[in-house]
Amino acid sequence: MSTPTEPVDAAFPFNHPKADVIIRSSDQVDLRMFRLLLSLASPVFETTFALPQPQPPSPIHSASDSNSDFKDGLLVVHLSEDSKTLRVFLGHCLPVTIANKPELKTLEDVAAMLELSTKYEAQELEKKARKALAGPQFMEAPLRVFAVACRFGLKPEAMAAVQYALCEPLTDIPDVKEMEFISARDFGRLQNYHTRYGAAAQALLESTGWLDRARRLVVRDYHEVHTGSVCKGYKDDAGIPRWWNAYVEDAIPRVQVTPCKVILSEKLKRTVNEIYAPCRSCEYMALEAIQQLSCGLQTAVGVFAKTLQIKLDLGF
Ligand SMILES: [Zn+2]
Repeated sequence: MSTPTEPVDAAFPFNHPKADVIIRSSDQVDLRMFRLLLSLASPVFETTFALPQPQPPSPIHSASDSNSDFKDGLLVVHLSEDSKTLRVFLGHCLPVTIANKPELKTLEDVAAMLELSTKYEAQELEKKARKALAGPQFMEAPLRVFAVACRFGLKPEAMAAVQYALCEPLTDIPDVKEMEFISARDFGRLQNYHTRYGAAAQALLESTGWLDRARRLVVRDYHEVHTGSVCKGYKDDAGIPRWWNAYVEDAIPRVQVTPCKVILSEKLKRTVNEIYAPCRSCEYMALEAIQQLSCGLQTAVGVFAKTLQIKLDLGF
């Protein structure tokens, strides 16, 4: 028969001598907290603590009370979450005069915070977690953010992640645990949206004359800065910037796969570098023009997708 693990006391900041309640995690860690702070953060805790509380046993009969609902005279509240999860949540309930708020460094931290703030109806903490979820550091992995947002039914955050997901090909699905929480239906909807958005981007380029207009504007707005003994000039003899063909060949075919990306690939940068090797000024101007053009294309694709009424309806 296995011996039950003896609870261990958590270290700072969950060891305050004035704490008036112990939160015991599922992995048997005792985190000392304050009833008032928990009540202020969560109406669930407020209700719990408002109920008639059991009284601590008399010291005379309490030689060992570690397995009872009291420890060191403090009520022990058993929660089903592990101590790692609880530290994030409880840490945000403590004032900065005791300890700095724990950073939500990973998506796991954010998901833990969302899980507990939802469970314990801690609205302010939920707001914090949602803000972090939509932050730029996590949007580098938009499918993970999308999965977390779907798990908790957070539509604005899910839609923000979708816009970032349009910058990635949907062929390389990350094998991460968040994906377990996303339904095949929601993922299918995202995939469908991505495909239709990509097709819209392609259609914009093929049927609306966008590229011709763009070339005319580039020819008009980007003047040759200079010519010299080494510089062949920014444009060719026909007045077209020398980078134009490289851009069309490199960037345009990828629009369907990553319809929302500001496209300036390393390959295109190298090509531009080779074209303007003797002249840094012309190279700089070319890269700037490509950036602007790509931003313009991204906006145009967005507007075009709207006119085609390409929408994503999530099931929540
Ligand atoms: Zn030059």
